[in-house]
Amino acid sequence: MSKTLKALLATDDDGAVAYAIADLDTGRLPEGDVTVEVAYSALNYKDGLALSGNKGRIMRSLPMVPGIDLAGTVVESASPDYKPGDSVVVNGWGLSETAWGGYAQQARLKSEWLVPIPEPLDTRQAMAIGTAGYTAMLSVLALEHMDVGPGSGEVLVTGAAGGVGSVAVAVLAQLGYSVTAATGREGTHDYLRDLGAKSIIGRDELEADSGRPIDKPRWAGAVDTVGGAILAHVLRAIQPRGAVAMCGNAAGLDVPTSVLPFILRGITLLGIDSVYCPRERRLEAWRRLATDLPLDKLEAMTTAVPLAGVLGLAKEILKGRVRGRVVVDVNA
Ligand code: NDP
Repeated sequence: MSKTLKALLATDDDGAVAYAIADLDTGRLPEGDVTVEVAYSALNYKDGLALSGNKGRIMRSLPMVPGIDLAGTVVESASPDYKPGDSVVVNGWGLSETAWGGYAQQARLKSEWLVPIPEPLDTRQAMAIGTAGYTAMLSVLALEHMDVGPGSGEVLVTGAAGGVGSVAVAVLAQLGYSVTAATGREGTHDYLRDLGAKSIIGRDELEADSGRPIDKPRWAGAVDTVGGAILAHVLRAIQPRGAVAMCGNAAGLDVPTSVLPFILRGITLLGIDSVYCPRERRLEAWRRLATDLPLDKLEAMTTAVPLAGVLGLAKEILKGRVRGRVVVDVNA
């Protein structure tokens, strides 16, 4: 039997994108073998793009329910892997791009996209982590894979006060790494120290170009969330055999670097893709988040907004003005 649910719907308004909280009949939900009662979604950088006129053409078709991630409870399942009452989280897989996403009270999805929320996390904490936090953990796993460990030397996190950056700082510090946080916002220094950063450098220092192909080695590894000239600077200053896990592009798409840091120091640049990351890696990332991210620090980096509040914050996240993580309560 169909019922009505609340959703943030993006529609085509004469070539522009219009956004409105709408009443949606469940009969309009797309096909899928599992229906999830959504408790929370989140605001990620990519959501900011989708909600600000669909910059970068995140949503490939309209109408669309945006929201690249969600956490909630299974209410209907034709899959042997899930039953009503299961707590699940979904990141990526084209949510808000080619499939309806998390900014609605229900979502119908393919069961293979779901990840059971590992204990002790609840649905709110799963979305406080969200795609940003899960991407941070994928980055940490990638560094570990390259043997960049707590004993290797200092590690750098760029865009540290953002969502990916905040979780990366907290997880790396918890694992015993000596973390340097790079931020463009002076007002976030105490916040970053409370998350576990040992030292802090200004973004402007990383924007400077020494004019040399390699600089004095400084960091054993890095989680780079911004790309552009900042990533080029970081690559020039990575220690021999070090590695950089790179996921974002807030500072630009082009990376003006050379082959020298790679062939003289044997460093590695690791691309992180959270959207189509294989299932086993996702499960590992979520297992590790449940053990290696202190929940008091997660709470300290999280604010919550009702569904209607996400539109106003979308432009703010694109301007780099949102600190940490934003959980979206789709039922408020
Ligand atoms: P946030 O907006 O929360 O964080 C981005 C941070 O980057 C800001 O807080 C700011 O940090 C810094 N920043 C903003 N603008 C600039 C700029 N012009 N130059 C340099 N630094 C800047 O976004 P998220 O944490 O959600 O995402 C971070 C990035 O990672 C985004 O580019 C996003 O698209 C990408 N991403 C990629 C994924 C993947 O699968 N590859 C998955 C998730 C995210 P501060 O104030 O500390 O300087």
